[in-house]
Amino acid sequence: MRTFAVILALVAAASGVSRAASAQSSDLDPRIEKLVASVSEARLGAILKKLESFETRSSMSSTNSPTRGIGAARQWIFDELKGYSPKLQVSFDTYVVAKQGRFTRDVEIRNVMAMLPGRSPRRIYISGHYDTVARPGGQGAANAGGAPRDPDAAGPPPADPNTPLDNLAPGVNDDGSGTALTIELARLFSQSGLDFDATLVFMCHVAEEQGLVGAHLHAEKALAQKIPIEAVLNNDIVGGDHGGSGIVDGATIRVYSEGPEDSPSRSLARFVQRWGGRYVPSHKVRPMARPDRFGRGGDHSAYNELGFTAVGFRESRENFIRQHDTRDTFEGISLPYLAQNARVNAAAAATLALAPPPPGVTNERGQPLITRAPTGYDANLKWNPAPGAVAYRIFWREAWGPDWQHDVLVGNVTSLVMPNMQIDDYVFGVAAVDAGGHESFVSAYVSPPRAKTTIKTVQQ
Ligand SMILES: [Zn+2]
Repeated sequence: MRTFAVILALVAAASGVSRAASAQSSDLDPRIEKLVASVSEARLGAILKKLESFETRSSMSSTNSPTRGIGAARQWIFDELKGYSPKLQVSFDTYVVAKQGRFTRDVEIRNVMAMLPGRSPRRIYISGHYDTVARPGGQGAANAGGAPRDPDAAGPPPADPNTPLDNLAPGVNDDGSGTALTIELARLFSQSGLDFDATLVFMCHVAEEQGLVGAHLHAEKALAQKIPIEAVLNNDIVGGDHGGSGIVDGATIRVYSEGPEDSPSRSLARFVQRWGGRYVPSHKVRPMARPDRFGRGGDHSAYNELGFTAVGFRESRENFIRQHDTRDTFEGISLPYLAQNARVNAAAAATLALAPPPPGVTNERGQPLITRAPTGYDANLKWNPAPGAVAYRIFWREAWGPDWQHDVLVGNVTSLVMPNMQIDDYVFGVAAVDAGGHESFVSAYVSPPRAKTTIKTVQQ
């Protein structure tokens, strides 16, 4: 990777950037390597034990006990995050949800969010959901029946809809694991001393089990307030390596993303694979070209629904017997596996947050900035400059197949002509690169959907 450093140093010199990258002997940032290496299994374990001690974190459980139920749990998460660094802005993101669907009464719900302000307002989220649920029969019974009913369907309604739902629901994997990962990364990032370009948000969502409600309401608010959420890395059930089938896999993680194939969420999934693979080569990222598992949901989809870029991390081998069940306990967790998943999240989020935002590749009418000029048979790519970029990396692949096949680094320019490359035969994309080699995710050139046509006919 020495070539990269040399090219980047030349690029930096040519563009008048004083912070030459020549001191770097690889395109990995030692500060990110250190961050990734700091993920602590012991800390993750301690957080999970604490979360389990609340016995239930159901969004409809009691809020008046200091040790049991969601009231105690959210206050503990708040205080824990608050203690990490004065730089971390911790708050409750509160809503009152009216009686509807799985809410048998009006309920006040609170996401717990910790924000680490960057130089720019663009936001990168790392998230999980801290609420839990346990139903008679659990997820195992729902799947084993083979019936196509919603596996997340609610249990029987309570005799009194106004009593708190206080049955035991430890939820250590679902989604204590994603919550612990989020809390641990809030600690590492806020104590890293790194100066990030993007604002990082460590978000513990609530009421996921009632239909992605906490995430949905937050995404709605972000949309209304025009908050630039650039990417959401959502983690839900990421702590178990023993599948219910008996197969053990502690070396891979699935990352789900909605289509179409070159959507920003797919691009984010490829990014996680690329940078997770570089900083944590011992852990394989498996991108899944679908929004989520069959019949299952997660908070990343609430962000997708409102137009945000978001992916969902899922352990590779699930144990349905434990899910939505009193058996979702600490014994079902592999701390080394959860730590690996945290490292992949850390590598992707740190790279994204240090990198410039992805460059725009469309004009103001939404048309892709790609033509066949000058000969009519060339690939002529243009893009809008990304603030903070000193170089761009161009990716391409045959217009069949999901993974980038080739890439080349170009300088601080906003166009490239590739002679004799038929644009109809390849997918092209551009990422922005800063002086330290940090890369944004790729903006791909895609045709906008064809407008619907109506053909007028003459009455005969
Ligand atoms: Zn979950």
